[in-house]
Amino acid sequence: MSQIVILGSGFAALSAIRELRRQGSNAEITVISPCDELHYVPSSIWIPAGVRKAENLRLPLRRFFERHNVKFIKAAVTGLSAAEKRIDTDAGPVTADQILIATGGRFIRKLPGIENAIIPCEGIAAAEAMSAKLAGLDGGTIAIGMATNPNEPGAMRGGPMFEYLFILDTLLRRQGRRDRFKLVFFSPSDRPGARLGEKAVDGLLVEMKRRGIETRLGHMMVRIDPDRVVTEGGEITADLILFQPGMTGPAWLAQSDLPLSPGGMVRADAGCRVEGTDAIWVAGDAGSYPGPDWMPKQAHQADLQAKAAAANIAAVLQGRSPDATFVAELICIMDSLDKGMLVFRRGKLNIVLPALRPLHWVKRMFERHYLRAFR
Ligand SMILES: Cc1cc2nc3c(=O)[nH]c(=O)nc-3n(C[C@H](O)[C@H](O)[C@H](O)COP(=O)(O)OP(=O)(O)OC[C@H]3O[C@@H](n4cnc5c(N)ncnc54)[C@H](O)[C@@H]3O)c2cc1C
Repeated sequence: MSQIVILGSGFAALSAIRELRRQGSNAEITVISPCDELHYVPSSIWIPAGVRKAENLRLPLRRFFERHNVKFIKAAVTGLSAAEKRIDTDAGPVTADQILIATGGRFIRKLPGIENAIIPCEGIAAAEAMSAKLAGLDGGTIAIGMATNPNEPGAMRGGPMFEYLFILDTLLRRQGRRDRFKLVFFSPSDRPGARLGEKAVDGLLVEMKRRGIETRLGHMMVRIDPDRVVTEGGEITADLILFQPGMTGPAWLAQSDLPLSPGGMVRADAGCRVEGTDAIWVAGDAGSYPGPDWMPKQAHQADLQAKAAAANIAAVLQGRSPDATFVAELICIMDSLDKGMLVFRRGKLNIVLPALRPLHWVKRMFERHYLRAFR
């Protein structure tokens, strides 16, 4: 029986498993990951407001793996030889006929003093840390900012930072203490969120102004001190700093013979096959793919890539030609606790809806629908 090994147990990995079985593949599927839970991080934005608790967002995968006849190895990948189709892990080496890399991306921690900021998208624990810090503040300045990977400007995740900005504003108003806080948004770009489209950037900047959020845009970051953000254009003293640096590929890629993009992600073709290999595939944030410069690092995009990669793996194993590709598509409801702003991009189409109350509930309903497969 053919052996498919999937590295990681996040969005891309789980979508690939579902698609492989949907395609009728009876291959042996093994997942290697240090984590046997799905962390539904898109909803971690609601932790500071108490709308979600960490335990609501950690879904054990044992039953999902049983249903899909998947073997799980609890281990971290430490390296990979594409030439030998061998995966090195902290529990020993594993070989496979087909390998799908789905170990996600990681945030660049090079900026001096980065440890003085909370990086909200690092996971559920980061959202909890922010929540605890906010609860302990009587007032002060909250500085929220983001940057990109200078070597691959698309390798960033801006959406959640706008969500945190607007959610904290709404939350502080609800708590009747917004007047004791100053909110400042900073970014080296003078058009932050450009991948969402020009109309969305205009809408976001107008919304910041409407909510009394100060902006410091267009200045390169210098460092982050415990009590301030230092940029080439001045300093922002702050009591709580949330900063999202640009993204790069997983650290274990340094111990592999895989081709990497300028930003440090695995280089793949339009069908998610790793360039120069015949049996190694990548899906989700770990990869760098051909397509528009706005192609998002999103769970939705990871799912689309995973489906294409899985269809191609199934095709190869069934002796068919692997010709599935994925569409570049950005869809995001940027939540503000009581409303949501929809942004959609595909091809030349770029739809932006203003912040609407029903969209907040659509985001909640989508979460429920998405997680049904894992409950
Ligand atoms: C706060 C927040 C809000 C977001 N909002 C949205 C949204 O509204 N819509 C949307 O589409 N996306 C959203 N995203 C982005 C989305 O979560 C990511 O793009 C998505 O998780 C990427 O999926 P992935 O499968 O590539 O990687 P991940 O989901 O990060 O999964 C990586 C997996 O690899 C495992 N792993 C890590 N290292 C190793 C290793 N060495 N060996 C083996 N396994 C390893 C991890 O445990 C994990 O299981 C949001 C993210 C955050 C943090």
